[in-house]
Amino acid sequence: MEDSSPSSDSITFLGTAGARIMVANQILASGGLWLDLSGTEILLDPGPGTIVQSTKRKLRADKLSAIILSHRHLDHSADTNIMIEAMTEGGFKRHGRLFAPGDALGSEPVIFSYLKDYLEGVEVLQEGKSYSVGNISFTTPVRHIHQVETYGLVFRTTERTFSYIADTRYFDGLCQHYSGELLIINLVRLEDNHPFDHLSVPDAEHIITELKPKVAILTHFGRTVWQAKPEEVARRLSQDTGIKIIAARDGMRFDLSQLDES
Ligand SMILES: [Zn+2]
Repeated sequence: MEDSSPSSDSITFLGTAGARIMVANQILASGGLWLDLSGTEILLDPGPGTIVQSTKRKLRADKLSAIILSHRHLDHSADTNIMIEAMTEGGFKRHGRLFAPGDALGSEPVIFSYLKDYLEGVEVLQEGKSYSVGNISFTTPVRHIHQVETYGLVFRTTERTFSYIADTRYFDGLCQHYSGELLIINLVRLEDNHPFDHLSVPDAEHIITELKPKVAILTHFGRTVWQAKPEEVARRLSQDTGIKIIAARDGMRFDLSQLDES
């Protein structure tokens, strides 16, 4: 038996809504993911309401070391500015870094120019690069097929590797980049009979079967998945793949030590 490690790595889902209708009506929350990895706190994809969802759960923005955007779409970036303001205590404590694809920082940036000075730095995400924040490293292995420049992420801590497949259309070669004990998938659509650049349930089944993580977590649900009940979708996928699959809930905290039970 392993002794209990002093660091408790966790991922808190500050929202599970994906795409327009779910986000615009706040049928589900859309606050992104709050990672606490060996004491390094990172906010991923702060959509609308992140400031509300995080403060409600007593997560402290001033403890964040970085904010990462997988892409510039509003449901992943709307609260970037307020979260930078909160992370840096209104600019009084110059602190933290923002990571985002080039097109989120270019001619129509997601960040107000005056807030850039509050940060320690802004870093451009590029295909195949790796980055570090404190004792955590992450890579952006492949550019996704989505309307704007988009990357998924593979995180490495001293003990763990886990992947986050952000918005994308399915493409050959997607799977090979996202190994790890844990796989988080943005699952927007129930069926794959649609013209949008999003993953569907059959895509998720294929990806999970291919990658065989210990645990897969589904999140970022569009209306069709929500109507089919995410827990039910996850239960069926678990049955079909033989892999533990969890439907994220708003506010759910997943402790990475749970991977040892799987
Ligand atoms: Zn998107």
